[in-house]
Amino acid sequence: MEKRVWIGIDDTDSRRGGCTTYVGAVLIRRIEDAGYGLDGYPRLIRLNPNCPYKTRGNAAVALPVRADKIELLEDLVFKVIEEYADLDIEGTDPGVIILVGEPSEEIRKYYWHVVRDLSTIEEAEKIALNNETRLLRWNKGRGVIGALAAIGADLTMEKTYELIAHRKKEYWGTVRLVDPKSVWLMNEKTYPLTFDNVDEETGEIRITPHTPCPVLLGIRGVTPSIVEEAYKMLRIYEPVEFYTIFETNQGTDAHLQPMKIADVRENISVIIDGIVKTKPRFTMGGHVFFTLEDETGEITCAAYEPTKSFRHVIVELEPGDRITVYGAVKRKTQAFTLNLEKIHVKSLVELSIVRQPRCPVCRKRMEKINEQGYVCKACKTLSSSQEVIMIRRKISPGIYEVPASARRHLSKPLALSSNYQHC
Ligand SMILES: [Zn+2]
Repeated sequence: MEKRVWIGIDDTDSRRGGCTTYVGAVLIRRIEDAGYGLDGYPRLIRLNPNCPYKTRGNAAVALPVRADKIELLEDLVFKVIEEYADLDIEGTDPGVIILVGEPSEEIRKYYWHVVRDLSTIEEAEKIALNNETRLLRWNKGRGVIGALAAIGADLTMEKTYELIAHRKKEYWGTVRLVDPKSVWLMNEKTYPLTFDNVDEETGEIRITPHTPCPVLLGIRGVTPSIVEEAYKMLRIYEPVEFYTIFETNQGTDAHLQPMKIADVRENISVIIDGIVKTKPRFTMGGHVFFTLEDETGEITCAAYEPTKSFRHVIVELEPGDRITVYGAVKRKTQAFTLNLEKIHVKSLVELSIVRQPRCPVCRKRMEKINEQGYVCKACKTLSSSQEVIMIRRKISPGIYEVPASARRHLSKPLALSSNYQHC
């Protein structure tokens, strides 16, 4: 009898090339050739973007399959990994988890742990064994972490889709032949139902990667039909091997967790409510830094040069402004720095300057004579009221984000944020 079987795969790629989505896409075709079918969309799951061991995107793949012979599935997976993973490259440590039935609460919890924090191979193996899964490992087998987490991913609350088109092998490493004009046109017709196709600010096409990997392009969107429709609008001048629509946790902010400054740790991504403590300043390198405080402590926030016009919002903040920041925590020498991905400006302080008043009689600028008063040097008129000038703030309350070119895979673009939980 056929059962639902989950296959999780991770860490088959290397810095040189290769790609876990390609291995997943090939495996789907092999499974179908064997007479089985997928039972739902394949998944592309992004894990903690701050993981120091990650290869490029820290992505894992999970496939829900209907099958009766688990050994045969295991065999198919084994062959595809042997064939396509960069096994001879240092740092490629594939891991596969095969689970019959649905993931337990323990595996679901493990997903949230791995998308937000760091885990170990030992921790993944322990949970995998508790849950009677099958494990396949190559080299150090670090991939078991992502493979297990991808199976446990809970996408019921929020998910997006990505259509990934893969290239024929003879084209790997060559310039991608996708007409940029058709990408802009597609974006015009489908944004914001599709997103991160282009970067308006830099004029850059975002759907094609720059690495020598087998991915030709990826289109992100809110439904399977819109990414497919968008794909058909493109003019592509090279043969496409195949395309696959993945269900993903991209653009959902799954990596972020609300936290007080005192509880912040390295390599996690957080949401902090606080008050601007110091005036943001540009450094020589074009980065902007300021200090944020809450009732538990203070932390440096950074908007780096690649965040482009986002920095011009940040630099307009003033001490006393109430904001919520979203971003990754990094350790810089002794202290933590939060790399901003998004900011919610909740309220702005009123800014004013106080100066000597003009003389009510002759309109000349008066001079201060003591704490209480001013005198007009020209006509000797006295006055006790100073002049207060309100300064117009250049930003307004609202949510601001980094441009598409600087956005993390997991970050939810504002175009998708209809309801903001932490506002
Ligand atoms: Zn006067």
